[in-house]
Amino acid sequence: MTTIDLRRLRLRPGEVRQEALDVELEPFHLGGQRYEASPATIPVELEISQASGATVFDLRFHARVAGPCMRCLGFADAELDIAARELHDPAAPPADELRSDYVVDDRLDVGTWARDAIALGLPEQILCRPDCAGLCPTCGKDLNVEPHEHAERELDPRWAVLDELRDRL
Ligand SMILES: [Zn+2]
Ligand SMILES: [Zn+2]
Repeated sequence: MTTIDLRRLRLRPGEVRQEALDVELEPFHLGGQRYEASPATIPVELEISQASGATVFDLRFHARVAGPCMRCLGFADAELDIAARELHDPAAPPADELRSDYVVDDRLDVGTWARDAIALGLPEQILCRPDCAGLCPTCGKDLNVEPHEHAERELDPRWAVLDELRDRL
């Protein structure tokens, strides 16, 4: 867990501080598959600015997440450039928008924030390539390697009965 102790910063209004941290990312689980950040530990840049009312946190980093293609199960990855902002005023009431969910007991939880930012930034489908043809729903073969179609009748058991009748005639 990567956190920053906000009391240690002692920023005055108008002051800006840059912090460079390393965040370790646990694997993500999406649609029953496992996606890993590679590398699992990534450098992040945090800029902390003290405004008169609240502290402004700007988080920036680059991440790459890799795992099975959601269509063909081949290798796929997604690259993300994250820029996220949080505001925090310790005097604001709980659940107020000026109170960051990532600040607990005067510590900013950079690790959880970075992880959530990636989860939000990931594409809906992680694919080996944008036009991946996927696996054949009938026979399970990779349609990228072996493009094919099955005739409609193979899917319908009534045709099998007719075929059998015809064979007997
Ligand atoms: Zn694919
Ligand atoms: Zn097939």
